[in-house]
Amino acid sequence: MFNIILFGPPGSGKGTQSQKLLEKYGLKHLSTGDLLRSEIAHQTPLGIEAKNFMDKGQLVPDEVVIGMISTALETNPDVAGFLFDGFPRTAAQAEALDKLLQLKKTSIAVMLALDVSEEELVKRLLIRGQSSGRSDDTNESVIRSRIEEYENKTKAVADYYNSFDKVVHIKGEGSVEEIFDALCAEIDKRKE
Ligand code: ADP
Repeated sequence: MFNIILFGPPGSGKGTQSQKLLEKYGLKHLSTGDLLRSEIAHQTPLGIEAKNFMDKGQLVPDEVVIGMISTALETNPDVAGFLFDGFPRTAAQAEALDKLLQLKKTSIAVMLALDVSEEELVKRLLIRGQSSGRSDDTNESVIRSRIEEYENKTKAVADYYNSFDKVVHIKGEGSVEEIFDALCAEIDKRKE
C-alpha cells in the first residue's frame, strides 16, 4: 500500500488537489471533514455531537475522528493505498494512525504539506463560503478560529512526521495545475 497525508491549513487546497490525486493514483480518499459532514447530514449521534464543535471552528474530539478512521480502514481492506485529507490534525491522532497502519503492516509514505499565507486562506474560504453551502466558511470569526486551531494543535503534526523525515513542503499558491505537478513529482519520486 502507498499511503499519503495531504496536510495544510483550512483553505490550503487539500480538497481540490485530493480529487486530482485520487484520479491519477487510484487511492482511497479519507477526508475526516467529508465523513463528519456526512454524519451530520444523516443526523447520527456522532454527527450531532461533532456539529457543535465544527460550527465554532473547533476541532472535534480525537476519539470521535480516530474511531471514524479506524472503521474506514477496516471497511477498505483491498485498496492500493489511502489519501488522508484533514487527518491527522493532532499529535494524538497521528500516533493513533501510525498504530492502526502498523496493524495493517503498512505506514505513511509521505506527508505533503501545502503552505499558504493566512490572508490568502481567509480570502479563499470567504469566496468558497459563497457557494459551498458550508456555514463554517461564511463567518470570518469562525474561519479565524479554525486557523487558530491549526496553529495551536495541528501544525505540530508536521513536526511529528518530520522526525521520521517524511514531510515535504509544497508552495500552495499558484495555479491548481502547478501545485498538482509539484505534488505528483514528490509522489513519483517515492513510488516504485
Ligand atoms: P477545512 O480543512 O477547510 O477546515 P475540513 O472539511 O477538513 O475543512 O474540516 C471541517 C471541520 O471538521 C474542522 O473545522 C473540524 O471542526 C472538523 N474536523 C475535520 N477533521 C478533523 C480532525 N481530524 N480532527 C478534529 N476535527 C476535525
